[in-house]
Amino acid sequence: MLSALSELNISPGEIDYIILTHIHIDHAGGAGTAIREMSGARVIAHSRARSHLIDPTRLWKASQDTLGNLAQQYGSIEPVPEDRVLVAEDLMKLDLGPGLELEVHLTPGHAPHHLSIFDRANGVLVAGEAAGVCIDGAIRLATPRPFRLEETLSSIDRLIALEPQTLCYGHFGCYGNASEKLNFARQKLLDWYEVVNSLSKEGKNSEEILTILREKDSSLDYLNGLSKDTYNREHVLLINTINGLSGPTVKSD
Ligand SMILES: [Zn+2]
Repeated sequence: MLSALSELNISPGEIDYIILTHIHIDHAGGAGTAIREMSGARVIAHSRARSHLIDPTRLWKASQDTLGNLAQQYGSIEPVPEDRVLVAEDLMKLDLGPGLELEVHLTPGHAPHHLSIFDRANGVLVAGEAAGVCIDGAIRLATPRPFRLEETLSSIDRLIALEPQTLCYGHFGCYGNASEKLNFARQKLLDWYEVVNSLSKEGKNSEEILTILREKDSSLDYLNGLSKDTYNREHVLLINTINGLSGPTVKSD
């Protein structure tokens, strides 16, 4: 991020906000490091994320438990000073100057501390991982444990109701036909939930379920063309997705 800013000739000191869609290590693990360079910036995050940003001990442990070696590759997480964290309220608006106002929409599902950002004037939705990820145009669900089906569906419904034009994924890039992509993810979620649940009840483990899904679902064909490193990463994340879908659905509190 810092090198991208440098390419844009923007000094880190000019940054006002780092907005975190959620605090998984690959999205927020560098916030504490970045904010040291960004002297005027505040970190905006979900209320449930606040304590973990200030003291990332549990977050780092959970990252290692869930991601194994992948967490080590990201590196340990530095804390964000308490007075630099701004809790995101639902429907909060951020005025970033003429023609650019951002709306916060709390969209739990991928994580309980997930939010999305909507630029209404331009129809641009930054959806984090609320509607899965998009790898080379292929949409893949991202439903790690603890997974709540109804909560995830209602978050996607909320994003569909915004009628965005452009959908920006945390992984990777921005695409047109946003409504189509959101609806695709919603349907894929229902389909996979049914298949994974019934295979899991038959006693299949997540590796076996992934093998069956790859035979049945051409949306996973993108795995065939990936480099070894990217494939390994995707494999870990797909297993996490299947683990989430196969576990007991936790009732929303
Ligand atoms: Zn995530």
